[in-house]
Order: sequence, then C-alpha cells, then structure tokens
Amino acid sequence: MHKPFVVNVGALRRGGVHATEAHCCGGLTGIAVSASHVPDNAEIQVDAVLEVASGTSILVTGTITAPWVGDCRRCLGPAEGTLVSTVRELYEDRPDPEETYKLHGDQLDLEPLVRDAVLLELPHAPLCSASCAGLCPVCGIDRNTGTCSCETELNDPRWAALDVLRARDD
Ligand SMILES: [Zn+2]
Ligand SMILES: [Zn+2]
Repeated sequence: MHKPFVVNVGALRRGGVHATEAHCCGGLTGIAVSASHVPDNAEIQVDAVLEVASGTSILVTGTITAPWVGDCRRCLGPAEGTLVSTVRELYEDRPDPEETYKLHGDQLDLEPLVRDAVLLELPHAPLCSASCAGLCPVCGIDRNTGTCSCETELNDPRWAALDVLRARDD
C-alpha cells in the first residue's frame, strides 16, 4: 500500500545531514468531527522541515493544509473551506505516547501527526459564509435564498400579548 506520508530519515539519523525538507501530499480517510470532515482521499499537503534533535530524535516543524466540508450551522447547507495547521512535534525511537510520535527505524511516518493536527483544526460550527442569514426559526425558509413574513408577525404587539397569556396558562 502506498504511504504518502512516510519519509526516509536514514541520512538524518546517521548524521549525514542536519536537516531536510519534506513535501508530501496524499489522501487519508476517516478524519472527521460531528459537524465537518476531510473528504476521503482529498489532497492533504504537508510542508515540513525535519531536523535532528537530541540523539536520534527528529523534530518536525511545518504546516499541514487540508480541505474540509461540513454543514453550515445557520442554514444547514453545505459549507467548505481549507484549514492550515502549524505543527512542531518530536519523533523518537521510544516515544512518550502522550507527547511524541514513534520512529520506525529510518521511516518517519507523518500520518499520525497529520491526523491529530487536522482533527484539531476541523471546524465544530462551520458557516457556509460569514454573512449566512440562516433559516427562519418559524417557517424554516432559507433566508439566503428567500424571504418570509414571520419576523413582522413575531414583532407584532398583538402576538406578544398572546404569548404572555399563553405563558400564564402554563
Ligand atoms: Zn449557511
Ligand atoms: Zn419564516
């Protein structure tokens, strides 16, 4: 299976070079929060610098760019965008599971780092646009594409009086 996010770090680990750039792109599946997700196999781009930290550990510094899609929190229509995550993480032969990532010999797999970083940046309350007008809470019409007369009725003092009466009955 092709692993687009695996980088060979043999030269780094043997001291031939101190730092190297890695530019990878590829698709992953299953990166999602409830309101948004990265489409399966959509292109995720990683631009990073890998450098020898202490001993054989390798520090990865860079940016991850990924497209996302979701449901607008106001109108429930489709929302989409591109997220950018800045990362600075350590890979070690014997990682601390809470803090660092595992090196597999000369293979440094950026995939777990990409998954964690992108998941953190996915929007939990996306908007289709900053000016989305949302749905009418009364009739449900999409106010971006249509209009209704609900608002005037809600503001009508006679309706307000009726609401007070209803509240008393409860
Ligand atoms: Zn919207
Ligand atoms: Zn309405």
